[in-house]
Amino acid sequence: MLVDTDLSAYRIAAEPYYRPVGDEVAVFEAAWLHRLPVMLKGPTGCGKTRFVEYMAWRLHQPLITVAAHEDMTAADLAGRFLLTPEGTVWHDGPLTQAVRHGGICYLDEIVEARQDTTVVIHPLTDARRILPLEKRGELVSAHPDFQLVISYNPGYQSAVKDLKESTKQRFVAIDFDYPVPELEAEIVMREACVGPDLARTLVSIAACSRNLRGQGLDEGASTRMLIHAGRLAAGGVSLEAAVHAGIVLPITDDAEVREALGAAIAACL
Ligand code: ADP
Repeated sequence: MLVDTDLSAYRIAAEPYYRPVGDEVAVFEAAWLHRLPVMLKGPTGCGKTRFVEYMAWRLHQPLITVAAHEDMTAADLAGRFLLTPEGTVWHDGPLTQAVRHGGICYLDEIVEARQDTTVVIHPLTDARRILPLEKRGELVSAHPDFQLVISYNPGYQSAVKDLKESTKQRFVAIDFDYPVPELEAEIVMREACVGPDLARTLVSIAACSRNLRGQGLDEGASTRMLIHAGRLAAGGVSLEAAVHAGIVLPITDDAEVREALGAAIAACL
């Protein structure tokens, strides 16, 4: 079997567009220098994934992304024996690949994973930097270029779904939020290929929706949603229809909340 020790399939060829909003690039670079594990905290669709893609490109590292979910087991991260015509063969999981060959492993929405899955990362996030593969009887020492990055949305936090204190305290955290209006409009212009007026209108719609947070909406419209609405509008759909399909419909299933949001948005248009 051919093993991609360079993880070339995971390298990012072209510079991803990322507009820094604070000192996050400097903080990440300093963390990388010491290979400290990093936690990106913030609501959905505010730029965490784009940021880690940009940093992987900037640091010339492959990026292995794993979207965590509640059925994810430790084997989905570390690896497992598979039956093949040649017999039983061990397959490294995505985390093990990054640990062995070097690169950034990004565990997206880690809080979705069960806590017994999350603990596999513990020995990787302290001075030991090792990954025990119990089923294989192997202790993998992390490659010098291995770094662990996780994302975490504190808004979804509940007693059953939260990171253990012992997990949280292993990470350097970088706080993400929706960018200030001028910056967010710049990002929407660039990503949705729309003009400044439309971008500003979409950003003010986002502000209306974010004000409804806690009044039926768990979260307001994300930057990602503004980009979707912008792309629909750029594609020839009327602004009202674009906002309805890109923001109002996906954000809530509750008819009353939808109506309140629609009215708040109409006031912005
Ligand atoms: P998440 O926080 O859920 O990982 P993403 O990184 O996927 O969110 O962001 C959603 C989209 O918003 C991106 O695909 C990108 O188009 C845009 N975006 C958000 N913030 C930025 C930023 N600072 N620079 C460039 N694009 C951004």
